[in-house]
Amino acid sequence: MNYYSLHHKSPKTTFKNAVVEGLAKDRGIYFPEAIIPLSKDFIDNISEYSNHEIAFEAIKQFVGDEIPETKLKEIIAETVSFDFPVISIDENIGTLELFHGPTMAFKDVGAKFMAKCLEYFNKDNDDEVTVLVATSGDTGGAVANGFLGAKGVNVVILYPSGKVSDIQEKQLTSLGQNITALEVNGVFDDCQDMVKTAFLDEEIKRTLTSANSINVARWLPQMFYFFFAYKQLHKQHKDIVFSVPSGNFGNICAGIMAQKLGLPVKHFVASTNVNDTVPNFLVDGVYKPKPSKATISNAMDVGNPSNFIRIQELFNNNLESLKNAFSSYSFTDDATRETMKKIYNNCGYIADPHGAVGYLGLKKHGLQENEYGVFLETAHPVKFLDVVEETLPVKVEIPEQIQKVINNKKVAIKIATYNDLKSFLIK
Ligand SMILES: *Cc1c(COP(=O)(O)O)cnc(C)c1O
Repeated sequence: MNYYSLHHKSPKTTFKNAVVEGLAKDRGIYFPEAIIPLSKDFIDNISEYSNHEIAFEAIKQFVGDEIPETKLKEIIAETVSFDFPVISIDENIGTLELFHGPTMAFKDVGAKFMAKCLEYFNKDNDDEVTVLVATSGDTGGAVANGFLGAKGVNVVILYPSGKVSDIQEKQLTSLGQNITALEVNGVFDDCQDMVKTAFLDEEIKRTLTSANSINVARWLPQMFYFFFAYKQLHKQHKDIVFSVPSGNFGNICAGIMAQKLGLPVKHFVASTNVNDTVPNFLVDGVYKPKPSKATISNAMDVGNPSNFIRIQELFNNNLESLKNAFSSYSFTDDATRETMKKIYNNCGYIADPHGAVGYLGLKKHGLQENEYGVFLETAHPVKFLDVVEETLPVKVEIPEQIQKVINNKKVAIKIATYNDLKSFLIK
């Protein structure tokens, strides 16, 4: 499968190059040249297939013959190694829990898949690839875990000092091996700026790539979630509305890809916190990115969502057809906390702030009689322990995979300026 840049100034390239480069030379993000729907027979009989088989069917055309089938199946087995249950919340609403992986946020699937692809592509190459990634919290842990021990791949994670939770910090600083954490004296935007500068710096001779959702190997496997939910629900519910808590809009964009592959989805709702660039765009058709605002659902604090351009491409840049299939609403922190309380009081379910924003999106959209709403629970409540325990009368039990890292030793190199990063990368 070939990929083109959405800036249309770089030549088409292979899956392999798209993964290794991350971003095209013209700074555009990559998009697959074709999307071929899966057979109706497969979709109708989806419950007969295992999650591994479903994932393989969904992704194989996007990889093509660049990874042999047996290897791709192996990668999928390593990636899809935990459950993705839909839990009933109300009579017509359920939540798709995506947090049963090693770092308890949905990014585990994309990070692991990308790591395994990169390791495969680099297996005969003497030069190591360096994955350079800025994180506001969750991405760092998922990437550190997903790439741990990947041969020929070094990972350098930049995170803002004092701005990530203790658990998140341990997840990204304590693994060692091929993972290095750089603790930046600054905020997330400073980390992000340093990473962008490094990508453009010709004096850095290492092969650099990024591991956020602009990378096709991190973005595309997120399609699996929507198939897994459909597999669990389609016998009882025909008209499924998905609400996806959105920041960079990679996850919801993958959902729309699943729909293009033939998965029956009635409607998509992109639910955001007060970072409302996309909800505003749907109102007046003007895309006005702005600086991000800090919220309690901090993994979605994004003012210029990098995947929205892919969503527009999926609808041929036509606002009317986009609006027919897709809505987007923004919610305040107060509304989010109220909703966490409401969900807890109604059914005893502990939603994290991101999931609560997703629930609000379904309510705002409104469900018709035959519709079933699914909001994605993108992180375990333990990852946002302070907010959850402040808002709800609960004590969240620390799951085993988190307990394991809490007692690890933090190892991070402190940096303050771009030059510090550069000297680290050049040495
Ligand atoms: C990354 C993240 C999101 C946002 O996902 P996008 O694909 O960037 O829209 C939502 N919730 C959690 C917990 C996350 O870590």
